[in-house]
Amino acid sequence: MTATRPQPRSGVLDIAPYVPGKSKAPGVAKVFKLSSNETPLGPSPRAIAAYTSMAAHLHDYPDGSASELREAIGRAFGLDPDRIVCGAGSDDLLHLLANVYLTDGDEAIHTTHGFLIYPIVTLGTGARPIAVAETNYTADVDAILKAVTKRTKIVFLANPNNPTGTVIPFDEVKRLHRGLPGNVLLVLDAAYAEYVRRNDYEAGIELVATADNVVMCRTFSKIHGLANLRLGWMFAPAQIVDAVNRIRGPFNVSGAAIAAGVAAIEDVEHQERSRAHNTHWLAWLTQEISRLGLQVTPSVANFLLIHFPQTKGRTAQDADAFLTARGLILRYVAAYKLPNALRLTVGTEEANRLVVAALKDFLDGK
Ligand SMILES: *Cc1c(COP(=O)(O)O)cnc(C)c1O
Repeated sequence: MTATRPQPRSGVLDIAPYVPGKSKAPGVAKVFKLSSNETPLGPSPRAIAAYTSMAAHLHDYPDGSASELREAIGRAFGLDPDRIVCGAGSDDLLHLLANVYLTDGDEAIHTTHGFLIYPIVTLGTGARPIAVAETNYTADVDAILKAVTKRTKIVFLANPNNPTGTVIPFDEVKRLHRGLPGNVLLVLDAAYAEYVRRNDYEAGIELVATADNVVMCRTFSKIHGLANLRLGWMFAPAQIVDAVNRIRGPFNVSGAAIAAGVAAIEDVEHQERSRAHNTHWLAWLTQEISRLGLQVTPSVANFLLIHFPQTKGRTAQDADAFLTARGLILRYVAAYKLPNALRLTVGTEEANRLVVAALKDFLDGK
């Protein structure tokens, strides 16, 4: 029978709409948004100046190939700019990759507490998202490899993962890659790579450079503090760059984003300040919150997963309400299958101290 109105393709209406982190605490004068992993230091002043200077050019189409930005990224990381594609946030790139490589009946693997965008972009193509169990809130390479079938076309791995903050060493990433059939694309989402201080970690550049089926996605939304501009990039094999460029919106990155991105990537000192701030306060928050008796998953990123008991008055939802009433907005992560946890973004010194004090009062029943 012919439908009487337009019908979304299969899978689309199975998508649970993405709910961004809260940003409001009604009735509270001063609000600290610690729910979206934004940097407390903001962007480089040079990025702000570059953005502002574009105000006189709003009528001009941007450079559709974002050449200047790809060249600046290439210089910063020692990469061939022809192997880079820029997007309106890495979300854009994840959508493009899904649309290029998935179709009805295919499967794409992500981990149980993996980034929510992966099942969303998968369902949008008519393919099936397969959630693979983690071990200790960490991606489990053996479990992922076991889940691969003839229908598998993509494995999405956030490393470090959001919202758990955990990471797998580069040796494990390479073992995962070795175990995958050559026709399966491994997407390494390294949105938090800059924050990681572990010498067994690598974002994936070496693997992309030497394999035909690996891409690495990066973002300007986190350490560069440009989340509002929507800017990300990926490093990929030439055939993948070619395919993605064919379906990419021809002007998917604005001129203001290109200009600010170039300035941000070149301001190494600002990145170093942000990294140093994070390293110090991540350790401090982990220690202070653990001391209160709450379980904290050790994180290498710019946020922490805090676990709450299931006793009445002490749950994650109770804590969320208590903290919000003090203007401290964390992320309730039930959508990530973590109903007993809150995710806390590392904030300014003031925000961090307020969170610890508030959690203490919450647990003391004040
Ligand atoms: C924040 C984040 C991104 C970045 O998304 P943008 O679209 O670039 O803002 C990508 N992946 C993960 C896992 C993230 O947490």
